[in-house]
Amino acid sequence: MEIVSIIGSGTMGRGIAFSSAVAGFTTFVQDINESALHNCKSYIEKQFNRYVEKGQLTGNEADAAINRIRYTTELEEAAKDADLVIEAVLEIMDLKIEIFKQLDRLVKPSTILATNTSTMSPTEIAAQTSRPDRCIALHFFNPVPKMKLIEVICGLETSEETITKSFEFGRALGKDCVKINEFPGFAVSRMNCLIGNEAMNMVMEGVGTIEDIDKAIKLGLNHPMGPLELADLVGLDTRLRNMEYLYKTLGEKYRPCPVLVKYVKAGRLGKKSGKGFYNYN
Ligand code: NAD
Repeated sequence: MEIVSIIGSGTMGRGIAFSSAVAGFTTFVQDINESALHNCKSYIEKQFNRYVEKGQLTGNEADAAINRIRYTTELEEAAKDADLVIEAVLEIMDLKIEIFKQLDRLVKPSTILATNTSTMSPTEIAAQTSRPDRCIALHFFNPVPKMKLIEVICGLETSEETITKSFEFGRALGKDCVKINEFPGFAVSRMNCLIGNEAMNMVMEGVGTIEDIDKAIKLGLNHPMGPLELADLVGLDTRLRNMEYLYKTLGEKYRPCPVLVKYVKAGRLGKKSGKGFYNYN
């Protein structure tokens, strides 16, 4: 693999693009929104400065990696030479399917198409392409440069070769991969969404303040972040879509907390909008 394309340059796309360029891949980042691409570029450049300051990369290595990244709004430009495409657009099944259908027409026959979905079925997405054996879900975690894990989720038709190449790609990025057989929410989101939603229910029930609930889980369960702080980092709109999908597929225990629904309606999307459970302004 030499060329990796990331579709969607938001919270996850920009992190995956950064890690891919650091690992030596020519990396295309595509988004339909020019200002999202602009924000992605400045995030990536800041990350490189941080890495150089901390001595994790030399200035020359950072410059070389920066030069390996191309930004575009054109899907065809991003897709046509890619060996691996990773879709990281919104958690909306119809949107992911539409992008996979377009990619299937644009990429080389050998190209692997991956989705970074947190919860949804790679089998359902792959079935709309002519290459279900070369479709897979690669579930990265936020913030991508720091988080070690990739869940590699195999759809019904995913081939062994696609799984092997996905593991090789993960290793090239310095990540640890686990192989997960497809089921809604995989392993991590299924657990994490439940913890986060329960924390939101506790806020609603007045069990404790936002700060105290986070502190209790952090110190009591030895989690590095509180579940409400983490939901803010994920993006409450993204988390709500995850909950809605899990509620639809796994049932009542995943019913989204009304507080989450209300916050998203109000435009409180967490860190990315400046306000969620916490205030970032
Ligand atoms: P986001 O809202 O931050 O970014 C989505 C980006 O997709 C935006 O920049 C948007 O302009 C772009 N986009 C929308 N339609 C597009 C199209 N047709 N073509 C190209 N770009 C398009 O979302 P995110 O949080 O980065 O989530 C992306 C995916 O990653 C989702 O499936 C989500 O469930 C998953 N995920 C998110 C997290 C997290 O912590 N946020 C963690 C793991 C996985």
